[in-house]
Amino acid sequence: MALDTAAAAERLLRFLSVNAITGHEGPIGKELAAALQEVGVPAKAIAFDDAHTRIPEPTPIGNLIVKLPGTGKKGAKPVLFMTHMDTVPLCAGAKPKIAGKRIVNELEGTTALGGDNRTGCAVLVTLAAELIKQKLPHPPITMLFTVREESGLFGAKHLNPADLGGPAVGFNFDGRNAADVIVGAIGADRWFVDIRGKAAHAGVAPEKGISATMVLALAMAEVYEGGWFGKVTKDGREGTSNVGLVGTADGKSAGDATNVVTDFVHVKGESRSHDAKFVREITAAFKVAFSNAAAKVKDHEGRAAKVKFTSRLDYVPFRLKSDAPVVKLAEVAIQKIGRTPNLRTTNGGLDANWMVKHGIPTVTFGAGQNEIHTVKEFVDLREFESACQLALALATAE
Ligand SMILES: [Zn+2]
Repeated sequence: MALDTAAAAERLLRFLSVNAITGHEGPIGKELAAALQEVGVPAKAIAFDDAHTRIPEPTPIGNLIVKLPGTGKKGAKPVLFMTHMDTVPLCAGAKPKIAGKRIVNELEGTTALGGDNRTGCAVLVTLAAELIKQKLPHPPITMLFTVREESGLFGAKHLNPADLGGPAVGFNFDGRNAADVIVGAIGADRWFVDIRGKAAHAGVAPEKGISATMVLALAMAEVYEGGWFGKVTKDGREGTSNVGLVGTADGKSAGDATNVVTDFVHVKGESRSHDAKFVREITAAFKVAFSNAAAKVKDHEGRAAKVKFTSRLDYVPFRLKSDAPVVKLAEVAIQKIGRTPNLRTTNGGLDANWMVKHGIPTVTFGAGQNEIHTVKEFVDLREFESACQLALALATAE
């Protein structure tokens, strides 16, 4: 299919140059709206939703939603093309430049680049540009550029599905290879523990104290012995767990002096699995271990430690069937651009997790991202161009 690859690469470079990390999407939202109008999308077709008013973290703008009326067969169902507009904080200050068939960072080694996910943004705007310029017949198209993907899939989670115009299928661009079709993604819980012990002089009267640190240690030992830590496999079911922060709620060290029995420890952890029930079981194993441990650590009067365990569903796992219409459409379009589709699942969360939950079967493709979330990040322009071709093939499929 005809495609102005130079214009597409310029567009990508332009979006990569915008400093707008997750939670600070204002400038990229503005740039995308401007770029869409420049390629001929009417201003009235471009709107920001109110998802940011429901996102629990401060967010300057809502998701950007663009609606292109159908120009092909009457009665065709709308199709959703989506991507996220934010980047990870490590991208702040990146200076992108084209180097052969790559886009790299002039400041390599100091910041990430932001190909995750300005590649997706450029694919969608290029799709709009080519459809309009080439006057290609297409079904009604909804384009969705989400906010705060990187900080918790919040834009996708908090959107109102009714704002999308009823798409039957969704195509998300966020990854490396255009020929990869991600048909399933993991689900995750995030959990938090407050362990309350009691301070006492550790040299003079340690028996009067209740060590929150010891509760943590015993709980972790039980979780470890029970096979619930790290890679978790139980009766053929698989998942993972990890403990991140151990300290105070504001990130300081739990306990400060060696001569004081530690009275408080805050713990943050997570559980993941492609099996929603197993995610909850892993989290439950931690909860039980912390309460068992709290009951064991007592002061001289038999008072035990107290534990408050809370968990929150970060995202639900999903797995689309390989014969689902959205998967078939993806496979046909990938073959049409001369590639071989590769169906796979991922152990990271995607905006697609929420789209599937909202009732829109959504697959995810790559668009040239490489070494994301690292200071070695670069964009592979061949894969990016391939993703642009793929979007065009998907939008013009019969
Ligand atoms: Zn991403």
